[in-house]
Amino acid sequence: MKSNKKGLNTLCTHEGDLEDKEFKGVVSPLYMSTAYAFDDVDIKRYPRYFNTPNQEALCKKLAALEHAEAALIFGSGMAAISTALMAFLQAGDHIVLQQTMYGGTYHFAVTQLNRYGIEYSFTNGWQVEDFEKEIQPNTKVIYMETPSNPLLTITDIAGVAQLAQKKGIVSMIDNTFASPINQNPIDNGVDVVLHSATKYMGGHSDISAGVVAASQEHIDIVFQSAICFGGNLSEYTVWLLERSIKTMGIRVKAQSDNALKMAEYLLGNKDVERVYYPGLETHPDHELAKSQMKGFGGMLSFELPNVDIPMFFKHLKLIKPVMSLAGVESTMLLPVATSHSLMSPEDREKQGIKDYLIRFSLGIEEVEDLIEDIEQAIAKVKSMSVPA
Ligand SMILES: *Cc1c(COP(=O)(O)O)cnc(C)c1O
Repeated sequence: MKSNKKGLNTLCTHEGDLEDKEFKGVVSPLYMSTAYAFDDVDIKRYPRYFNTPNQEALCKKLAALEHAEAALIFGSGMAAISTALMAFLQAGDHIVLQQTMYGGTYHFAVTQLNRYGIEYSFTNGWQVEDFEKEIQPNTKVIYMETPSNPLLTITDIAGVAQLAQKKGIVSMIDNTFASPINQNPIDNGVDVVLHSATKYMGGHSDISAGVVAASQEHIDIVFQSAICFGGNLSEYTVWLLERSIKTMGIRVKAQSDNALKMAEYLLGNKDVERVYYPGLETHPDHELAKSQMKGFGGMLSFELPNVDIPMFFKHLKLIKPVMSLAGVESTMLLPVATSHSLMSPEDREKQGIKDYLIRFSLGIEEVEDLIEDIEQAIAKVKSMSVPA
């Protein structure tokens, strides 16, 4: 565990910077080489060995932001997640996975793990007891995600991490929704932190990347699988991601502020049935969220039962109905039609995902403009559905 005393925005802007010794340029030079000399050097550099100059520089920044000793950067969130899981699991092992989680990770578990002789169980909720119940003698990894997609449930990170530690199990967390700006699970005792950097780290809906951050000992284990699976990120994208992260602190702060204001507004909107946001006092785990998050993030969900949602989406002028999340532009999606469409209606019902649940990713626009957009779209849908 390493705690860097510098402020978050300072780390985002400067940590790990490569110095341009030749021209004294202010940003890190981009080294596109895939071939490096092997004699008279201490490190044999190669992109798939995750040790090119730009990869190393960015990983220093990522490790500092997650209070980790080390980090690795991958070509996508799923490359990071699947590589980390396969690094710690082998035939005969078992993993406990949180029930509410990102659809791609769920899909990886149910379609891939058994092929390698790895057993898995999903929890029946997100309380510490729910994880404990699923532990078996051969359990090697416990996997959590908080806040979760799409209902923003909150898992007790320290509680689950302690449970894992007590039993000698590796704990992992998908920290994508919170970002390192709002949550640092290593401080709560988690072993391995995972990110889809496609989301808040990239932040502009134009980069695909993933991150693993952990102790040096755990990163060494992940590295052994990583060089075999080869999910490294291309140098140019590494460089772009470094640039994006410089503004992550101020972006995520603006998005979190917007989400809280939007959640409060939606609570008072008579067409809205329920609002899911950990920053609201009405959220069942608000106190827990307060204890483990620095901000509550830019994601919320709400139920809009009596409005034709496809028509509502069509009439939005600013907010874009698109897949993915965390960009500087506000976006919405209907989990039932997208991220959770492969789940059976019964499973969705069991998890509390209604057909009229909308997931809302707040951007950095002025929140008043976003509220006005929602109001005009609802008004249009309603005026159209009035019988002639
Ligand atoms: C998007 C996402 C992922 C997967 O990341 P990719 O970059 O799409 O591979 C994993 N976890 C969460 C929470 C996500 O939102």
